[in-house]
Amino acid sequence: MEIRDTIIIGSGCAGLTAAIYAARAKLNPLVLQGHEPGGQLSMTTLVENFPGWPEGIQGPELIENMRRQAQKFGAEFHSGVLHKADLSARPFVLHLGHEQIHTQTLIIASGASARWLGLPSEQALIGHGVSSCATCDGFFFSDKEIAVIGGGDTAMEEALFLTRFAKLVTIIHRRDQFRASKLMLDRARSHSKIQFITNTVVDEVYEVGKQEVTGLKLRHVHTGHTHVFPTSAMFLGIGHIPNTKAFAGQLDMDQEGYLKTRDYVFTGVPGVFACGDVQDRRYRQAISAAGTGCMAAIEAEKFLEEHGR
Ligand code: NAP
Repeated sequence: MEIRDTIIIGSGCAGLTAAIYAARAKLNPLVLQGHEPGGQLSMTTLVENFPGWPEGIQGPELIENMRRQAQKFGAEFHSGVLHKADLSARPFVLHLGHEQIHTQTLIIASGASARWLGLPSEQALIGHGVSSCATCDGFFFSDKEIAVIGGGDTAMEEALFLTRFAKLVTIIHRRDQFRASKLMLDRARSHSKIQFITNTVVDEVYEVGKQEVTGLKLRHVHTGHTHVFPTSAMFLGIGHIPNTKAFAGQLDMDQEGYLKTRDYVFTGVPGVFACGDVQDRRYRQAISAAGTGCMAAIEAEKFLEEHGR
């Protein structure tokens, strides 16, 4: 039975930074990449706030660079979705379908996935005009009218990106206060192709029967008034849900399922570390994810040294 020194779950910014550090420390890390290889950066556009790139860098390029850097030092990659993890004793056992992998230390960098509204009509139209990734799907709606749901930076970023293709982008938000940073909000507000509808929620997405988006049933949250808003697409920008299901009952989580850590990256199980968006609901930035990825790898290395690697 092969027992790895360290396995990293997730190939986003945190996981890849952990992989670079663990590989340079000769821990021969194995990086597991699941449904969303590269994480959120691989679905974004220009990253303007990652230090070292004064002109900005495209998210997918930044991720690809990190991946190449990790591979250069010997990190290995494996595709597979983690269904269950047994963290009750070391080596830890990870179940990926029929496959089992054993490891002395575990770095959880599984991130967070896009949140959906949860409407049956929305779910039925994913890939047919409903999307959570403007960079992936925006191109399909050239010269069309597009709705973006949300009031945070993700919604603003998606809306701004979609103006490249769309005739008009409408940001629909359930309040009239925004979580988005002032800079992003001002950019969206001053864009000639963006309009806002506030205090409004989506009750239904039309038309499932046609397998395309033709409009949204909108409801004003104060008056209850509903109307049909014609649009060709709906992009969600309403936050994320941490990918922690496989650890339920074994690691401490907050109410929303984010892993609780102490001293940045330590979970309650010795030898298991968590980094990036899966444990950070406060900063959630590429650079902070990279920072905790580095810390997790250094702690995994120390742990192996102290426990007679
Ligand atoms: P967020 O800041 O949590 O905003 C989520 C938005 O979606 C909120 O406006 C929220 O409304 C709304 N929302 C949540 N659930 C909803 C539902 N069921 N129905 C309707 N609306 C719903 O999430 P985010 O925008 O993804 O940003 C997360 C973090 O990443 C932030 O720290 C942000 O600064 C960062 N980020 C930065 C950049 C950048 O700098 N370029 C880009 C993207 C993200 P309420 O306000 O009413 O709760």
